[in-house]
Amino acid sequence: MPRTLLAVFAHPDDDAYGIAGTVALHADDPEFRFVLVLATDGGAGDIREGFPATRETLGAVRQAEDAAAWRALGRVPERHEWLGYADGEVDRVPPEELIERIAAIMAEERPDVVATFGPDGIFGHPDHIAVGAATDAAFHRLAPGAERGFRRLCHGAVPKSVFDRWNEQRASMGLFVFDPTQMYHMRGVPDERIGIVVDCRPVADRIVAGLGEHRSQHHVMSDDPSDVERWKRVVSRESWVVTWPERPAGAPMLTDLFEGLD
Ligand SMILES: [Zn+2]
Repeated sequence: MPRTLLAVFAHPDDDAYGIAGTVALHADDPEFRFVLVLATDGGAGDIREGFPATRETLGAVRQAEDAAAWRALGRVPERHEWLGYADGEVDRVPPEELIERIAAIMAEERPDVVATFGPDGIFGHPDHIAVGAATDAAFHRLAPGAERGFRRLCHGAVPKSVFDRWNEQRASMGLFVFDPTQMYHMRGVPDERIGIVVDCRPVADRIVAGLGEHRSQHHVMSDDPSDVERWKRVVSRESWVVTWPERPAGAPMLTDLFEGLD
C-alpha cells in the first residue's frame, strides 16, 4: 500500500515544524513517498545579528538550510519543489495561478494524504493562509473521481488547550504571550476539531536536529535555541484537523496521517 504524502507550506522552516515528526516516523517505511512543496525561499525573513547572510543571499541560504535540515532528520523528500514566489507576497499571487501550480504537482503525484495550512495559517501569516487555501482548492479540484490517491486532506493546527498552556508557561517565564487577534501571533483551534494527534516523542531528537539546521532563523524559531529539551517538548506532537473527508462527530482520535487508509 503506497503512502504518498504531499506537504505544501510557504517557507523553509514551516516544514521543519509542520511535518517533520510524521516524516521521521515513516522514515524507514519502504512504501512511504514524501513530496514537499514550498512556495518561497524565505528570502524576506529576519537575518540574525552577526549571521553571514545578506538580503540578497538569504533565500539561497535558507534553501540550503532546508535541505540540510532534512538530511539531519535522516529522511530527505523524494521530491522537493520550490514554487519560487517572493517571500511575504504569496497572497498577491493570482489565486488561480497558485492553485494551478500546486494542482499540477498533485496531478502527477496523486498523493494519499495532503497536508497544508488551515485558514488560521497557525500564525495568521498571509503567505500561510494563501498557500493553504490554494492547496485545498487544488485538492478539491482533483479528488472527485480520482482513481487513486486524494484520500485525506489535513490542516496543521495547534489545539486551543495546548495554545493556552503554552501561553501560560510563556507568561510565567516573562516571555511575550501570543495574542491570536494579531498578525504573526500563534492561534489555537478548538480541541474538538483536532482529528489526528501524532506522538512524535520517539523521533523528537531527529526533529530537533532538523530544526537546528535552520541556523539563520534560530532567533525567531525559539526563545532559547540552545535549550534542546524545550525544543523536544514543543515538537512532541503534531496535531491535525482532518478537513476532508469530514470527520464524524465522536470519531476516535487518529494517531497517524495514514491511519485507517489501508
Ligand atoms: Zn512560514
